[in-house]
Amino acid sequence: MVTGEIDQKEIIIGIDLGTTNSLVAYVDKDGPQLVKAENGERTLVPSIVHFSEGGGLIVGEAARDKLAMYPESTIYSVKRLLGKSYSDLVTYSKGLQYTIIDGEDELIKVEIGGKYYSPIELSAAILRHLKRKIESDKNVKVSKAVITVPAYFNDAQRQATRDAGKLAGLEVLRIINEPTAAALAYGENSKTESETIAVYDLGGGTFDISILKLSHGVYDVLSTNGDTFLGGDDIDASIVAHWTAKGLLEKVDLKNSEFKQLVRLRAEEAKKHLSDHDRYENGPFVLDRATFRSLIEPLVQQTIAKIDAAIKDAELDLSELDKVILVGGSTRIRYVKERLQEYFKKPIFDDHNPDEVVALGAAIQANILAGNDSDKLLIDITPLSLGIETVGGLMDTILPRNSKIPASVGRSYTTSVDGQKNLKVAVYQGERDMVSDNRKLGEFILRDIPPMPAGIPKILVEFVINADGILKVKAKEERSSTETEIEIKSQYGVSEEEMGKMLLDSIKYAETDMKLKSLVDARNEANSLVLASQKFVVQNAVILTEQETKKIESHVQTLKSLTAGEDKDAIEAEMQAFNEFSRPLAERAMDHNLAEALKGKKLD
Ligand code: AMP
Repeated sequence: MVTGEIDQKEIIIGIDLGTTNSLVAYVDKDGPQLVKAENGERTLVPSIVHFSEGGGLIVGEAARDKLAMYPESTIYSVKRLLGKSYSDLVTYSKGLQYTIIDGEDELIKVEIGGKYYSPIELSAAILRHLKRKIESDKNVKVSKAVITVPAYFNDAQRQATRDAGKLAGLEVLRIINEPTAAALAYGENSKTESETIAVYDLGGGTFDISILKLSHGVYDVLSTNGDTFLGGDDIDASIVAHWTAKGLLEKVDLKNSEFKQLVRLRAEEAKKHLSDHDRYENGPFVLDRATFRSLIEPLVQQTIAKIDAAIKDAELDLSELDKVILVGGSTRIRYVKERLQEYFKKPIFDDHNPDEVVALGAAIQANILAGNDSDKLLIDITPLSLGIETVGGLMDTILPRNSKIPASVGRSYTTSVDGQKNLKVAVYQGERDMVSDNRKLGEFILRDIPPMPAGIPKILVEFVINADGILKVKAKEERSSTETEIEIKSQYGVSEEEMGKMLLDSIKYAETDMKLKSLVDARNEANSLVLASQKFVVQNAVILTEQETKKIESHVQTLKSLTAGEDKDAIEAEMQAFNEFSRPLAERAMDHNLAEALKGKKLD
């Protein structure tokens, strides 16, 4: 566990940037350590960003407190937006409480209070928060990090993650796959020299399965499979859909984002409750374990189909697996464990905290990269095939999925027309035969090929994929040495130019009087809290006791007098105390309003 100060002045951290929560870890002389989140024992920092009316930015636990009250300006599950185009998200965005718009060049933006933010900027806000937290806690400088991503993230999503790190002021030394990180953390404590393991990672937004061979410190990833849109969020959505189908929410205005948010939070609460109980009941919201199981069965079945595919790709038989390691908060669901046990007929390893192993593994990898641990070797793979478009829109795969990385592969092509001067190289990622069904990563033109009859030029197209799984493509006409090379820039990432501007903006912002700005932010936030509370008391008089009303009024008075002063910390402390006091009241009010709207409705 974390004890006192750490030796190094500069440390390299491992970050698990999760859909729901993020964690940071590092390695010191006692091994991998997790960084504690705000106040106390917790290590999970909610991956949530809240924009206050005054333009201030809050991240983590404090931002989560704003979810119910300020759904439109409190952004969760950003990871699901990273590296995605608007068309990728049309269906998904309908379930969100905040607004996504189709920005220029297909880049999506999140609209918050009339301003627009890219998922990269929002993720950077989370990463910056994590970086500052460890810097101030440990009194060290942090500029380098290893960040984990789902193994099934494509090139665009990896680039976007790397860009977010850069924007947060971190040099991202390596992007590593979450299941691989989990295997590193598992291997650290395993006594067995050689074994074949499956890492089953079901988180808030994504599902990954990886098969690895561990042998004397070598971590060899054999195959991986998964779905970047399958996780706890979908389970919550299926519970909401069930309640809707039962007619429970018929009278509720689900366009009202506050109600929608509350129903979503109730669904998550029900899901967690059913891990240890047979039945959930909270006001009109009822769910029993049998119904819950039937709701999640299709989802669990989807994960099992992916496990089958991964085992096949690893050229193994199910019986050759020694162990199954569970990762991700959603593996706490009892039914998931039972189904896996039934399927694998193998020990399910869940001794560790499924939320923490990925960050610990990232820290171990960071330590390897820092040169402190030369006994371990990680051999990862690329999850999706990479290739180029050939005649008729066909995908010609150059680097098949599950290839070891880093890797460099070349293939020769030629021209199809006499005297052809230019050749377009369009690069795609995916498993389908037609490029139109795969994801385009980019294209470039090899120009000025000297005139030659068709079929004579010898054009070598070379794919170089680095240890982050990020691709560079080179094309060269070998007879004339004409050459072009590009690093594939994600279509949905940020250009160097944009990145420069964003960085400049953040530096400019740092140069303004930060102290004054944060005081103004705190005052603005406090003022809006005062207004919201006064409105709340008027609108919810029936459910408040006299004592509660008095307490709210006293908090309002205290806040008003504090905002007249200059003490930002005192304003923030009072706001926190006030929020803690009022949160259960706000929930009670919502439940009451919902119950009123539902009067006469009963669930089966
Ligand atoms: P992760 O992305 O790994 O942090 O996983 C977060 C997901 O795990 C969220 O969807 C949570 O709702 C879910 N989760 C956390 N605890 C539990 C639990 N006890 N039972 C079911 N799901 C849980």
